[in-house]
Amino acid sequence: MNLNILVLPGDGIGTEVTREAVRVLRVVAEKWNHQLTLREGLLGGIAIHKTGTPFPAETEKLSLEADAVLMGAVGLPEFDEWPPEKRPERGLLGIRKAMGVYANLRPVKSYKALLESSPLKNHLVDGVDMIIVRELNSGIYYGTPRGIYEDGPEPRACNTMAYTWSEIERVTRVGFELARKRRKKLTSVDKSNVLETSQLWRRVVVEIAKEYPDVQLNHLLVDNAAMQLVLNPKSFDVMVTENMFGDILSDEGAILAGSIGMLPSASLGAKKPSGAWTGLYEPVHGSAPDIAGQNKANPFGAIGSVAALLEYSFGLTEEAAAVNRAMEQVLGSGRVTADLKPAGTPATTEEVGEAVCNAL
Ligand code: NAD
Repeated sequence: MNLNILVLPGDGIGTEVTREAVRVLRVVAEKWNHQLTLREGLLGGIAIHKTGTPFPAETEKLSLEADAVLMGAVGLPEFDEWPPEKRPERGLLGIRKAMGVYANLRPVKSYKALLESSPLKNHLVDGVDMIIVRELNSGIYYGTPRGIYEDGPEPRACNTMAYTWSEIERVTRVGFELARKRRKKLTSVDKSNVLETSQLWRRVVVEIAKEYPDVQLNHLLVDNAAMQLVLNPKSFDVMVTENMFGDILSDEGAILAGSIGMLPSASLGAKKPSGAWTGLYEPVHGSAPDIAGQNKANPFGAIGSVAALLEYSFGLTEEAAAVNRAMEQVLGSGRVTADLKPAGTPATTEEVGEAVCNAL
């Protein structure tokens, strides 16, 4: 298969973890005989330095030409005081919009070697393996009218949560398709006892469910979902929810895994004729200026993003599973970075990347 991938290392530890993720990608390509075409582009602070803008037109062009995009992280402290529209982080919004990605996937998985790092009791976390699918393009973060109004007797602020049928339908389909390939269980999270947007959400999900009779569907109100995530996280397979609920629940899910450096993510857009998704893949963490340039960053989130890229944008499930197994093997061996608090001397970013390549 020809894997045509754009790599956007970005800033800080983004460059360090991406280097290891690309190494893993090269080993996969060699081992399974895929033709790997890698191009590299600028995004974030480095793009501002080199071109004056966080999301240069050239990067947009390259991202639309690629089959999938692998990103590191963006953000540099020197831009902290800059207005939001000029900061490196604006590059993220730019590329998500340009690629039309509307479903953000965050796998939440427990690893035996990391059970002690989780804030929950071992028996609750051991065996957790779920994906949270968050709607990424609509809802209260985008709805209008919005603003702070100072023209009345006292200041007033307003945001609008709005959804169309098709916005709900396309993300619901991602949830069902994922569930179909896993344990066939989809939980839709809403607040339909109070919100009209949630009532429409539930109507759409129930309608689409008719096309997926093999998937068991259940509905949870978001307050209950927040509770069940810590009471019984193993009960979930795939969860699908709107933008703000997903934002909050996915961070709650994130802490179950132990360290932010462990977490991959995938943002998916339209399906291509081949059945694969347009996708942007990145670790959940930021550019971590406090440890940047020290070869200390945990590359598992970035390497896990490679596994997601292989699975969702190329349908290479065997290769993706092999990358996940290799990561698990390295985790089990204790050759991990300082954030995972190994018993002996912590490994460097590079050493962990090399260990995963060797395990593969
Ligand atoms: P951060 O995720 O960069 O760091 C938070 C803490 O976690 C830090 O102590 C850091 O050292 C640690 N950490 C993060 N990733 C790690 C890894 N792989 N291995 C070991 N430790 C890790 O979040 P922050 O400090 O709030 O933000 C720093 C910059 O990153 C800011 O400019 C922010 O806007 C940006 N940011 C970017 C993204 C992104 O690119 N998607 C996401 C979040 C934050």
